[in-house]
Amino acid sequence: MSVALVTGGSRGIGRVIAEKLASAGYDIAICYSGNEAAAQETIAECKKSGVQGICVKADVSNTEDVTNMFAQVKEALGPVEVLVNNAGITKDGLLIRMTESDFDSVIDTNLKGTFNCTKAAIKDMMRARSGRIINITSIVGVQGNAGQANYCASKAGVIGFTKSVSREYGGKGITVNAVAPGFIQTAMTDQLPENVKETYLKQIPLGRFGTPEDVAGVVAFLASDAAGYVSGQVIEVTGGM
Ligand code: NDP
Repeated sequence: MSVALVTGGSRGIGRVIAEKLASAGYDIAICYSGNEAAAQETIAECKKSGVQGICVKADVSNTEDVTNMFAQVKEALGPVEVLVNNAGITKDGLLIRMTESDFDSVIDTNLKGTFNCTKAAIKDMMRARSGRIINITSIVGVQGNAGQANYCASKAGVIGFTKSVSREYGGKGITVNAVAPGFIQTAMTDQLPENVKETYLKQIPLGRFGTPEDVAGVVAFLASDAAGYVSGQVIEVTGGM
């Protein structure tokens, strides 16, 4: 059975990606930063598809945590064949008020976390001469967004990272792609004021906010055999925004 690791799989988009990959037959590993009960729920849900699953508490921005997590996952399930770098945070604010720690923590989780996990996954993928790396970026990493300079920089960084790593490891049978969601209904977006949500909605041609399922479907496609010749791409899942 193939193994998929989804970072930030305890809640939101990551949880639904984990469940979708479980339903496609992958054994599932997820990590989370603090919410163990939610992580256990995700794994219980994944196991209903008849696959194995484990959750590991690991801060993706911490290199040692990531090294330990990959060792634990390999021991329990085997080497990771599909890595979904999904863990992410926001610390929004106008540049003039943004603290150094708000900048650093967002870059560390979203961008350095993607680097840490990809680096930890790549050796086994090279040995297997196959692997799928799917990085969750954001449409604002392409377009920019006022009040999110740290977040947009981290997500634009993920896009550059994706394209570079796809060029480095394509020859080893590894595909590396990014998925750029638009406005997806999760805890991350629930905290926005109603007037901000209404303004976003007006910009979405499909006339509705996205769901985690909308993102998970594209991730499952990129993990599947059907996407074997797709690499270095940024797939926007925005309802046409
Ligand atoms: P949520 O806030 O709902 O969930 C975040 C997840 O990441 C949780 O599982 C959380 O764990 C985990 N996490 C946070 N920090 C760390 C860390 N340092 N190490 C390990 N795990 C961590 O986020 P969403 O589901 O909304 O977002 C998922 C991804 O999609 C993010 O990368 C986000 O930037 C991106 N995205 C989201 C959009 C949206 O509209 N929602 C739009 C575009 C992109 P715990 O439960 O333990 O806190």
